[in-house]
Amino acid sequence: SVPLSFFGGIGAASRHGVLIKGSNFLEVLNHVDTIAFDKTGTLTQGKFTVSKIAPVAPMTAHELLGLAAAVEQHSNHPIAQSVVAAYPDNLVDYDVQDITETAGHGISATVNGQGVIIGNAQALAAHQIKLTDIELTGTCVNVALDGQYVGQITVADQPKPDAESAITALKQHDIQTVLLTGDNRHIADRIGKQLGISHVKSDLLPAQKVTAIETLTQAAHAKNHRVAFVGDGINDTPVLARADVGIAMGGLGADAAIEAADIVIMDDQPTKINVAMKIAKRTKTIVW
Ligand code: ADP
Ligand code: MG
Repeated sequence: SVPLSFFGGIGAASRHGVLIKGSNFLEVLNHVDTIAFDKTGTLTQGKFTVSKIAPVAPMTAHELLGLAAAVEQHSNHPIAQSVVAAYPDNLVDYDVQDITETAGHGISATVNGQGVIIGNAQALAAHQIKLTDIELTGTCVNVALDGQYVGQITVADQPKPDAESAITALKQHDIQTVLLTGDNRHIADRIGKQLGISHVKSDLLPAQKVTAIETLTQAAHAKNHRVAFVGDGINDTPVLARADVGIAMGGLGADAAIEAADIVIMDDQPTKINVAMKIAKRTKTIVW
């Protein structure tokens, strides 16, 4: 096909809803041999639904969900939104104070004078709280009240419809694919297998995602290759900034993601990565 100038490349990409912030990034894309992905909101829809509520007696399922929802209403995390949406009643009886959210872990607060900790296994372990009877069948929202584990809410998310075909096409072009997620190993491995991702790293805190991308870029640079990271801007803007090319899902309008990224996919579709790669290949420098 006809080669595009760098400016033509940026224009062509924008007509596909892919915003490229500089012609240099098209050049870098041509050298990318590894693409690392965030999971939630990037390869999955980022729309969770509650699939299971497992309280520890004497707490009831309704009480457990109410307690979690009372705290999670103060978080923007997609997991939090699903917990709030699942609770059918109003939350006026909960007096929530001292809210602290920890990226990649969860959220804590004081509810009616008692300490509440909500999050993954690491979040509760950080407060020396022992989990009993936990099941890793999904993304787990564990809840502790006054230092005691009181139950678990399981939430589930679905891959985006085009996630698998995006990964398949990248692998056909010999691109190594990597999943970097803060979610648990069970879910990370399942999504990785479902989508055909070559390498999966789970249970990562935001800072550990940065370390992981640094390791990948060092290995790629040694072979004169480059690394792209694709994220949605929730807990991963430092990773977007650190990759050779940071690609953000821009549809949620997360300003921080759009700011930190070099390339923004406006409609959040993973296959737009393939579109950008294809346009980069057709793009040639104009020699003046
Ligand atoms: P991902 O890497 O999949 O995008 P995040 O880094 O946003 O995930 O979060 C990692 C994990 O931290 C989640 O899977 C969840 O277990 C926990 N977590 C983070 N924020 C919350 C919250 N508000 N409520 C419950 N769990 C949370
Ligand atoms: Mg994320």
